[in-house]
Amino acid sequence: MTDPSHRQKIKVVYVLGSSRSGSTALDSVLGASPGALSTGELGHLHWALQEGNLPGYVGSSIAFCSCGQLVEQCPLWSTVVAQWGPGRELEAFGRATDRYETPGRSLPLLILGRLFGTRAFRRHLALLGRSVELVAGASGVTTLIDSTKGAGRGWLYSLLPPSEFDVRFVHLVRDGRSVVSSMMQHYEPHKSDSGPSPWPRLAAAAFSTAHWVYMNLASSSLGLFHRSRYRRIQFEDLLNDPDGTLRELEPFLGIDLRDVRRRILAGEPLPTGHLLCGNRAKGSPLRLLPPKSRGADELALGPSLVFLWLAGWLQWIYGGPGSPSARPRPGL
Ligand SMILES: [Zn+2]
Repeated sequence: MTDPSHRQKIKVVYVLGSSRSGSTALDSVLGASPGALSTGELGHLHWALQEGNLPGYVGSSIAFCSCGQLVEQCPLWSTVVAQWGPGRELEAFGRATDRYETPGRSLPLLILGRLFGTRAFRRHLALLGRSVELVAGASGVTTLIDSTKGAGRGWLYSLLPPSEFDVRFVHLVRDGRSVVSSMMQHYEPHKSDSGPSPWPRLAAAAFSTAHWVYMNLASSSLGLFHRSRYRRIQFEDLLNDPDGTLRELEPFLGIDLRDVRRRILAGEPLPTGHLLCGNRAKGSPLRLLPPKSRGADELALGPSLVFLWLAGWLQWIYGGPGSPSARPRPGL
């Protein structure tokens, strides 16, 4: 990493949580502030580059940046890749990223690396810091918004030198029933096997519920270790009251969201930026609108019961819509 005396400290706002929680929207909103950049799922840059080399990539949203260019042809990401150096080094960093950041499987590696400070672990941390520096340098910003979401990456970010990186965590929780409904629409085994048996559908509901529980619990666990750097917000609050939600986040993040809040209130679209992976709608002008339906209305009875049975307790703790606590505040 470069000598910190030679550059301003880089702020990293890392969005934690489950897939399909609205993280691309939050990433776009925060990245529209002065001096900031939305990177989308920065931890999946190597996936995006690989996807662009596969036949049939034209139909893949992963292969494209939100600016509309293939990731390897995007002005920003092509600069980052060129500055990184030999392609094999970036590929090796990508493989290590998968090893250290795959939910569940990476936990032993992270613990061992932290406890014993293995050479491979220290090297990966150094390269993670370098990747952040390269993106900030190529885009000329001092704040990066990364919505990769996995807690493993958050854990790695928390270990970057505080003299060089100011890392903040925003845990975005969406009503689990909305998440399960969204995931089931894209769960291929369930879609291709929707015969008379109800089990594939309920199995899809159980799998999606388990994902929501695991990703959110892992995010909350990270927050327990970093209370002063962690805030949890509800996605539905961001849609129903973007101004109030962002006002509360502003001092914690230390970024200027006044113009972003004004644009949202005026119904003006936000810039599309250079987001990697994430929601398929990335690149479309973003407007925050209140949800058309509540999570409870989006799921059929069977999957809804599966969700409540497996995850109702966590939904209640998080104070999602329909639970006794209407709007959670900082804390776990
Ligand atoms: Zn781009």
